[in-house]
Amino acid sequence: MIDRSRLRALMEREQAEFTARNPASRRAFEQAEHLFGRVPMTWMNKRAGDFPLYLATAHGARVTDIDGHDYVDLALGDTAAMAGHSPRATVDAVSRRFRDLGGASAMMPTEDAEWVGAELSRRFGLTKWSYSLTATDANRWAIRIVRAITGRPKILFNSYCYHGSVDEALIVTGPDGEGVSREGNVGAPVDVTMTSRVAEYNDLEGLERQLAHGDVAAVLMEPALTNIGIVLPQPGYLEQVRELTRAYGTLLINDETHTFSAGPGGCTALWGLEPDMLTIGKAIGGGVPAGAYGMSADFAERVLARTDLDLVDMGGVGGTLAGNALSVAAMRATLEHVLTDTAFAGMTALSERFTADVNAVISEFGLPWSIQQFGARAEYRFASPAPVNGTESRAALDLELDDYLHLYLANRGILLTPFHNMALMCPETTIDDVALHGRLFRDAVKELVGR
Ligand code: PMP
Repeated sequence: MIDRSRLRALMEREQAEFTARNPASRRAFEQAEHLFGRVPMTWMNKRAGDFPLYLATAHGARVTDIDGHDYVDLALGDTAAMAGHSPRATVDAVSRRFRDLGGASAMMPTEDAEWVGAELSRRFGLTKWSYSLTATDANRWAIRIVRAITGRPKILFNSYCYHGSVDEALIVTGPDGEGVSREGNVGAPVDVTMTSRVAEYNDLEGLERQLAHGDVAAVLMEPALTNIGIVLPQPGYLEQVRELTRAYGTLLINDETHTFSAGPGGCTALWGLEPDMLTIGKAIGGGVPAGAYGMSADFAERVLARTDLDLVDMGGVGGTLAGNALSVAAMRATLEHVLTDTAFAGMTALSERFTADVNAVISEFGLPWSIQQFGARAEYRFASPAPVNGTESRAALDLELDDYLHLYLANRGILLTPFHNMALMCPETTIDDVALHGRLFRDAVKELVGR
């Protein structure tokens, strides 16, 4: 379908344009001699251009780089900025807390914490909450708790999931369907099959086969995969996951860090799911590091009744800055005033429009591509029909096409998420922003197919 030499020629043109357009970013990157990989965090090297764009300012759905270019930001910090960059209510609350009241690391609770706990309970149905600074830590601590409570050693994941830099989660299905270490896993403490099991998403037989070993403390999953393209549940899949986990005495943890984009209570509320625990991070802090994990009242009582567990001091569950006054103030303001029910309705309408635009281009040019959308998030893939599990979805990766589209859009004022072809809407994204993407996506494809 795609003429690769044409694609490469277009890519060279876009790369040259990118370099010419961004001398300040290029210089900053070349001068970064004291950073590991020249960037503040190594994943910032995952980019389509020869160097990263350096941030100057970001407000709402817009970002400006140090060469003075404005962008419509559809990346939104890979969901961390789903509330928009520096939303006013969050900035006000955080400024008040940090500048006026102080105490970001005072080792004392604030009353905001209970407000946030109550709001998370209203949204997600689980009624007892604890805080972290990242989704990764929320997952790590949830994993410790389910292991302690069940006395079982293993956690089950979906192949090609992502839950942060959690050792246990770096497992994929091998050729025989059994787990193997994910390629590139950095410094695994032990072979991952000692700590984990794996099943393909949407594969109930595979899941049951693994649960039947009787050693799985919990299934930790995203209700819909979002880190290997969007993979949506087939009808009845999530209900069956819940039935099977109950039947085998395995707990269920929903990681809603990304699927929060489904609506005010994520997929858990939207699809009526009943996890035993729920983890979340990124967007709930409105740009300030914050995460949380929740559980039912019964479950919390069971955990607290275990006096042999050191939940307070050095038992492995806790961070000095977790639940600090600043993060909690940020969560409160973001949930109370920014990521509201009304905001989600608008964001979802925009992502439906985004999806319709992409679908129109796919059919106009007869491409074997697809787009998946739920709530405020949409992502296009170079496969049709859309993949149904992580391994299939990974096989549909086309890094050359990714890079071309990312660069084409970046050179014309749109940022997509570096790791994906994902677009996310925030409360301040406008219909004009989405329409601009629709036009540019069509232009990029038209040039690619040459008609
Ligand atoms: N869970 C999910 C579903 C994620 O997508 C991510 C990050 N992409 C994480 C957890 C980890 O988030 P963080 O790196 O902010 O800890």
